[in-house]
Amino acid sequence: MVTHTLWPEFLSIVREEVGSRVVETWFKAIVLNRWDPTTKTVFLQAPNPFVQSWVTTHYQPLLAQHLGRLLHEQQVTVSFTEIASAPTSPVSVPPASTTQAPAPLAKSGPLTLSQRTLAQTAPAKPRNSVNDQYQFSNFVVGPHNSLAYAAAHAISEKPGKLYNPFFIYGGSGLGKTHLLHAIGNAIKERTPSCRIIYQGADRFVNEFINAIRFDKVYQFESKYKDVDVLLVDDMQFLAHKEQTQEAFFHIFNTLQQTQKQIVFTSDSLPREIAGLADRMRSRLESGLITDISTPTLETKIAIIRKKAEAHQEKLSDEVAEYIATAITSNVRELEGALIRVFAFASLTQQPLTLELAAKIIARTVEPSKSPTDLSTIGARVAKHFDYSLQDLKSAQRNKDISFARQIAMYLMKQCTRHSLREIGKFLARKDHSTIIHALEKIEQRKQNDPEFVQLLTELERKVNAP
Ligand code: ADP
Ligand code: MG
Repeated sequence: MVTHTLWPEFLSIVREEVGSRVVETWFKAIVLNRWDPTTKTVFLQAPNPFVQSWVTTHYQPLLAQHLGRLLHEQQVTVSFTEIASAPTSPVSVPPASTTQAPAPLAKSGPLTLSQRTLAQTAPAKPRNSVNDQYQFSNFVVGPHNSLAYAAAHAISEKPGKLYNPFFIYGGSGLGKTHLLHAIGNAIKERTPSCRIIYQGADRFVNEFINAIRFDKVYQFESKYKDVDVLLVDDMQFLAHKEQTQEAFFHIFNTLQQTQKQIVFTSDSLPREIAGLADRMRSRLESGLITDISTPTLETKIAIIRKKAEAHQEKLSDEVAEYIATAITSNVRELEGALIRVFAFASLTQQPLTLELAAKIIARTVEPSKSPTDLSTIGARVAKHFDYSLQDLKSAQRNKDISFARQIAMYLMKQCTRHSLREIGKFLARKDHSTIIHALEKIEQRKQNDPEFVQLLTELERKVNAP
């Protein structure tokens, strides 16, 4: 692979793996200088020592693993060449939504590369192994996740014996993936020989498609049938993938019959996953199902404290409470905000005061994407059609109300990160199949009704207005 496509490729993999926030905050500021095939070393350059040390501490295995894979090398060394002098001018941290890479400082200053290179070697791990950053010990337990945690913990002590399968569901960024890896890590620690596969359902689908293409379905199935513990993340991606579901069904049966532990996560209940074959659904429902809901303020503060501790950063009570209050429910966003606040304070060498935290957070929290927004969208759409939010939530089904309601559902999906389930719950619908139906109808109408598209655009503008 040519080196100039290597980094963008790496970024897109990492984005999938750890989320775009990490990419925007850390990796985009890094430049891949060169690849030396003789020493099998990738030379990266960070804009400043802070970014370098952060990335080295937190993402070294990730770098080695994926760069190794992309370069078709078992093992690569990742080395940082950094600028000798610390930045003197204030640096701004890009907001999470910025897609443009911040210009590395190295470009504007004199390019004196120090000899101090930070080399570490990590063997390339297979992609679907568990991530040891996610442990039970760094998972904060609160009322919103205590049941899921307890079950996960119990399972890790007796895999295959207690709840099989175990199904965790809940909104985005609430800790499902963390818990899934934590189960894998705990089992691995107890029984190092245990064969564990972690896989995202979307990857599972792709892998299956490739297996068909290259006539390797047998190998594909054997790989999964041959494990002791199977952890599958984000099962909602199996929606409407009938053939993959079928393959999965066989794997599932084999594993369950031989008492191998299976754990799933999803953003919704099995019965709410659209286009899931009945027999598949009943299998998913056959074990224990628990949800993770949104954390309380106290739990959010506890999570912030734990993360600060892990990053060896100090945080005053008032700043912790401020961040916990400002970020409504999503733990991933909470973490992103915290990292930006630390990074900004450190890069600009300012003490982390409440004012500074408020300034940074106000700039980066996107109001229209904030999780509290369902009521604003509902109210604004309702108002446009001369109804109230209560009308939308009511059982009334006359044509006009249904129309307004469907548009509200559509915009709620478009303009927030809420799951279908959450939107359904907000609008007092029994399940979220009505939402799926609404989205389908709207999509259809968009295809052949330009006036309708115009109406949608106008309403979208309205709901996103400050
Ligand atoms: P999900 O899979 O539900 O979308 P993740 O498991 O990826 O969410 O969690 C998002 C981020 O929030 C991760 O970095 C995770 O470590 C962190 N996180 C979520 N819940 C907790 C918790 N209870 N304690 C500590 N960290 C948490
Ligand atoms: Mg996840």
